Amino acid sequence: MNRRQQNEGFVCESCGARVEPLTNGSYRNHCPFCLYSKHVDEQPGDRRSRCHGLMRPVGLVYKRKKGYQLVHQCLKCGVVKVNKVAVDTVQPDELARWAATLAWSDALNKARPVRGRS
Ligand SMILES: [Zn+2]
Ligand SMILES: [Zn+2]
Repeated sequence: MNRRQQNEGFVCESCGARVEPLTNGSYRNHCPFCLYSKHVDEQPGDRRSRCHGLMRPVGLVYKRKKGYQLVHQCLKCGVVKVNKVAVDTVQPDELARWAATLAWSDALNKARPVRGRS
């Protein structure tokens, strides 16, 4: 599968928004509005997962080289993945709005720690 096929729009299964493909050369793997993702990759971009569960945004991490990244947890199998946020494109991620819920998210993470390798 080439990059062009990977980079296609989709309808968000969480909020129902029509999501356009990214225009910044990267490919979209989560909804910019509710920030939910879908468990379709084993490795980033490979679309090999058979899980297809919805992935809930559970946190935001900052890496010096990659910038902000969203932490997603699959509601079906529980796997945790870190995804680059989408900026400089059409329909950029609504991080500001979502960040307002982070206080709540932090409390949740403390109750049930989600640790990724970093
Ligand atoms: Zn959505
Ligand atoms: Zn899953």
